[in-house]
Order: sequence, then C-alpha cells, then structure tokens
Amino acid sequence: MSFRATILTLYPDMFPGFLGQSLSGKAMERGDWSLETVQIRDFATDKHRSVDDTPSGGGAGMVLRPDILGQAIDSIASDERPRLLMSPRGKPLTQARVRELADGSGVVIVCGRFEGVDQRVIDGRNLEEVSIGDYVLSGGEPAAMILLDAVVRVLPGVMGNDQSGVHESFESGLLEHPHYTRPAEWEGRTIPDVLTSGNHAKIEKWRHEEALKLTQERRPDLIQALKK
Ligand code: SAM
Repeated sequence: MSFRATILTLYPDMFPGFLGQSLSGKAMERGDWSLETVQIRDFATDKHRSVDDTPSGGGAGMVLRPDILGQAIDSIASDERPRLLMSPRGKPLTQARVRELADGSGVVIVCGRFEGVDQRVIDGRNLEEVSIGDYVLSGGEPAAMILLDAVVRVLPGVMGNDQSGVHESFESGLLEHPHYTRPAEWEGRTIPDVLTSGNHAKIEKWRHEEALKLTQERRPDLIQALKK
C-alpha cells in the first residue's frame, strides 16, 4: 500500500509544487505515494465563505474557526494516519520523526494561516503540532511540503541506492562528513589523500572523525544529545 498524504489548506493550488519534480515527483508517478488536497473553504457556511474570525480577547490578525476546520478534518475518512498541524509552536521536526512517519501509511496535514488555529480544534481533533524551525512563515503550506519532501525520500525504494540516506546528516546523530569528486585539483585545492587511497577502513575512519569535528564545531547540542 502506498503512502497517502492528505493536505487541508486554503491554497490547494500550491500543491504538489516542487513535490511534483525530481525524486518525489518520480516517486509519485510510480505510485509510491499520493497527495490529495482538501479546500478548507469548501466547509464555510456563510455567503462570503469566510473561514476565520477575530481573536477572542482582542489583538491583531485573524484565527481559523474551529467549526469550519473541524468539518474539513471530519470529511476525511477516519484511519490510522497521524494528524499533523504545521505550527511554529510545534515540536521541531527531526529525522527520527521523519523516519517514523515514513514507516506509517501516510499523514493528514493541516496548514495554518493568519495568526493560527483555534485551540479547541487542535485539542478536539488531536492535532500534533510540528514545527520546521524557529522562524515564522506566512502559512503552513511550505512547511507541509518540506515535511513531505523529507518523508517521501526515505520511503522504501524512492532513493535509488538504498544505502544513500543511511550515512546522512542526523541519521547517526552527527552532521555528515565533507564530500569531494573529480577533478582531482580545482583552483589549487586537492582532494584529501585518504579518499583516493582505496583503503576503505581508513576512509570510514576519516569520515567519522570529520563528521565528529564538524558536529562539534557547528552543533555541539547534537554531541551532548549523543552522550545522554
Ligand atoms: N501566530 C503564530 C505564532 O506566533 O506562533 C504564527 C502564525 S503563521 C503567520 C501562519 C501559519 O504558518 C501557522 O499557523 C503555521 O501553519 C505556519 N507556520 C509558520 N511558521 C511555521 C514553522 N516554523 N513551522 C511550521 N509551520 C509554520
């Protein structure tokens, strides 16, 4: 059974966007995964088709109404798929969570807009808030696409060589070692000798040491996490 993504959005035309290209696009063509969108506005009940209202308690912006979004969520046949809400307040997305999601049958993703979503629908429909980083986007759609890009590339059979991916940044808890390819010399810069030595044990050792060094410099928090 292929992986199914259902996206609830006010901007269905944004999809599949870049997910229709390259690795994820080819995987979609092959039927390894599918994507459907649900227009939240189709569940509006007034003649203006409004989906948002002013925040209770005052303040700037608008909030997505729980009754409209609740109806949109309920229109999707209930199944085992996790229901995610893209949100800067959410738990930061990690490669471990990406792998878990890829092991399942799919995801339902709600894309927020405006100031966000009424808390009652988050609680009432058990939405898992997921953040893609400590910055604020104008809507959940690009965040949903980023999450799906990460998930689709680790679905079985999507990456040509099943080993590519295993050594990547975050998979071992470390950032990845540097890469080199031909030409042997470029602008006076050469490839480290060990990589052309043909000695695989030495190459592995060098890569591990470089990964450790890089992680220590750039992401000491990852080294600390490994020690726990
Ligand atoms: N008022 C919200 C806050 O301060 O947390 C920000 C709302 S943002 C302008 C609108 C929508 O964009 C959010 O509801 C969410 O769906 C999406 N979004 C923005 N930044 C995001 C992030 N870092 N990760 C995931 N989704 C994000």
